[in-house]
Amino acid sequence: SEKKKLLSEFLKSGIYRFPTSPSFFLDPVRILNHSYSRFRVSPSSYYSRFFTSNSTIDEQTIEQEQQIEEPEDEFRSISRSKKRKRNQQKKKKKSKQLCYSLNEKELLADQRHKEIRPLLVKAHEELLSHKELLDVISELSSGGTKVDKEEEDEVSFIELGKVWQAPFYEIALCFNQDNKQNLENGESLGIQHNDQSSFPLFNNLVSNETNDDMVAEFQTHHYILPNSSCFYMSELEQIHTFVPADSECGFNFILIDPPWENRSAYQKSKYPTLPNRHFLSIPIKQLTHTSGALVALWVTNREKLRNFVENELFPTWGVRYAATLYWLKVKADGSLICDLDLFHHRPYECLLLGYTCINDSELISMTESLNDQVVMTIPGDYSRKPPIAGIPVLPFTVSTKKEYVPGPRPARCIELFAREMIAGWTSWGNEPLHFQDMRFFQLR
Ligand code: SAM
Repeated sequence: SEKKKLLSEFLKSGIYRFPTSPSFFLDPVRILNHSYSRFRVSPSSYYSRFFTSNSTIDEQTIEQEQQIEEPEDEFRSISRSKKRKRNQQKKKKKSKQLCYSLNEKELLADQRHKEIRPLLVKAHEELLSHKELLDVISELSSGGTKVDKEEEDEVSFIELGKVWQAPFYEIALCFNQDNKQNLENGESLGIQHNDQSSFPLFNNLVSNETNDDMVAEFQTHHYILPNSSCFYMSELEQIHTFVPADSECGFNFILIDPPWENRSAYQKSKYPTLPNRHFLSIPIKQLTHTSGALVALWVTNREKLRNFVENELFPTWGVRYAATLYWLKVKADGSLICDLDLFHHRPYECLLLGYTCINDSELISMTESLNDQVVMTIPGDYSRKPPIAGIPVLPFTVSTKKEYVPGPRPARCIELFAREMIAGWTSWGNEPLHFQDMRFFQLR
């Protein structure tokens, strides 16, 4: 009966909390849906790559998730075909190396992996032992229409933001929410010009300050803005124009998923990436609220990157490392998306948590309570992270204690390099409306 209770809780909240290990299974669709009232995220569009037990997870697919050690400056300087050849040679060399010896970085990465392996195995075994949950998981992608990912008329905010007309682009917010009938007809959103207000799309804070979903219109596309949310669309070079003048208006929780350089993002041209040194200039101190902030940073398993974060990035930002949370990726049948011990393709990524203003004893206590939690999900679109707002250790779910995030309540939360919006949050990046496109939603 305890399992029944956990399952019924999961069906409501999208969070399944395992009783005997610090691990969770999340359904991002259910969690994201807490942000909306009239719309809901279409499960089949979220789980566009729904990994079933039969689907062959080829190497390329896994590479989308994992990054291979690679010297940074090579990315721009060599042609793709040359690069492909070189990569093939490298791979051969690497597999040979692995047979004989690991280099220093690889040994460190392997050591890290070995240390957390038991934790991940335990979490995964726990998932497999909850049969009723597995039955539900196998059906998570049903519902809604699958989005054609190659849709040709998709707006590329990244490209539009670079053209000379960028300062003149405007987005129209529709303040009249009583147009459901028109939405159902699917032809027109029924947005009347009287009900619209237009705002500059780039380098401008655009907010939905109402308590309801809001439809926004740009060119021929429609976007759903969750209640009490806002976005600021700009390039990193312009982020200073967004920094609050008064630190009372800063943020208590800062979630960051940087476009780390990696071969798969580059090859697939999914989004532009940046060399590590650029992230040193993110104005974390200026974005932080007077009372401090919890900073959460997504990293890959590249040892070089971990080294950079620990020794350069966090110290430059004034962040003290507190804990690591693991995201373990599973298929629809509950199995891992690839072997746990594949050297260059791990089925997990890490979220590093740190604080801006914290003394030693507080840091120790935060580490004790936050460290080594495992979150399991079926991955969504390329590089899309599970909605952190739903991770139960953090203060955004009803069941959570709130003391992990400093400052006033409700906590002021921001996501940097965001591709989506969350109710109550600010989203910054060069395409924060990406997953807000109406085609990812359906009416409730
Ligand atoms: N967390 C996101 C999600 O779950 O969907 C994925 C973020 S993705 C790793 C990195 C994002 O940073 C991409 O949307 C990319 O376009 C954006 N980006 C890349 N270069 C940027 C720049 N110079 N300024 C602002 N955003 C940038």
